Amino acid sequence: DTHSNLSAATAPVALSYELFPPRSPKAAETLWTTIRELEATDPDYVSVTYGASGSNRDTAVDLINRLLLETTLRPLAHLTCVGNTPAELADIIAELLDHGVRGILALRGDLPQDGTLPPSGSLRYAQDLIELVRHVEQRRTALLCAGKIAVGVAAYPAKHPESPSVEHDVEVLLAKQRSGADFAITQVFFQAHEYSNLVSRARRAGVTIPIIPGVMPFTSLRRLKRLGELAGVDPSAHLMERLAAADTEAEQRRIGVAATVDLANAALDSGAPGIHLYTFNEHAHALDVLDKLALPRPARPTFRAQPVSPTPEPVRH
Ligand code: FAD
Repeated sequence: DTHSNLSAATAPVALSYELFPPRSPKAAETLWTTIRELEATDPDYVSVTYGASGSNRDTAVDLINRLLLETTLRPLAHLTCVGNTPAELADIIAELLDHGVRGILALRGDLPQDGTLPPSGSLRYAQDLIELVRHVEQRRTALLCAGKIAVGVAAYPAKHPESPSVEHDVEVLLAKQRSGADFAITQVFFQAHEYSNLVSRARRAGVTIPIIPGVMPFTSLRRLKRLGELAGVDPSAHLMERLAAADTEAEQRRIGVAATVDLANAALDSGAPGIHLYTFNEHAHALDVLDKLALPRPARPTFRAQPVSPTPEPVRH
């Protein structure tokens, strides 16, 4: 009815970004420009990815610590079963919580491409990692007054590559909810109905946690092509053709941003409680998308650790 449509249109929508730990000092420099630009939009959190090989553990933890100490941003730390023993993972979780992290995205991680299996004794499924996070959390009595840690998980609008069916994916999502997941973020998708169908299937199966669409700015043809290999998600052929046919880079960017905004708006129209933007550590395209989306965001003061300028800065929305 009109009333619920109205309230849906004006209800505040959560906003978050994904970053990955920089792979070089030069990459770190540009990442910090990006971080400051994104910070000005006052997101609910920024997520920091974790290499399934465990190899970027230190750069991930360093980035999270700097976000906590030097910015107003709330980091959501990704962690993977793959790449660390359960004991190492318990240590990392405890360290993150002690440093002030209050959100963890519990993932299995991508299995090595060469087919080698994780060592025996490794956690097998994201569900096992959720249980480990909850276990470590309960033992940190200092956290009792800080409230529960938010645990997020992955969800798949198109079938997970290793899964027999989308129905199985939803059973897995339900199992993750039962183990203590508070919310889910989706893998990249290209058709709005893939997201709304996932939400419908999940609700029918008893999943009640928010499912936040993960949205990638469709501005790089190269990146779109790589997605198929990495995530097993095939980009829409129509979009690929339109991007390839663009005469200039500016035109390609305009087409990509418009397609991304359409997809995000369709997800919001179907009731998405937020938008999670995959930034690839670049702010320009993510902010282009955000400008055109005009999300209803809660009005709240932005606190800064140290005032940087005496005059108020314009807030980008
Ligand atoms: P799971 O939920 O454990 O599922 C893995 C497979 O096992 C699925 O096929 C599932 O159907 C099956 N399964 C799960 N539980 C059971 C069960 N109890 N019984 C039978 N079958 C089961 N990867 C990284 O390496 N680092 C990152 O930082 C990272 N960030 C991501 C962020 C998001 C938002 C998303 C969507 C993905 C991310 N990934 C990341 C990729 C992710 O690790 C892969 O998609 C991985 O293949 C699956 O992870 P999962 O957490 O969904 O695993």
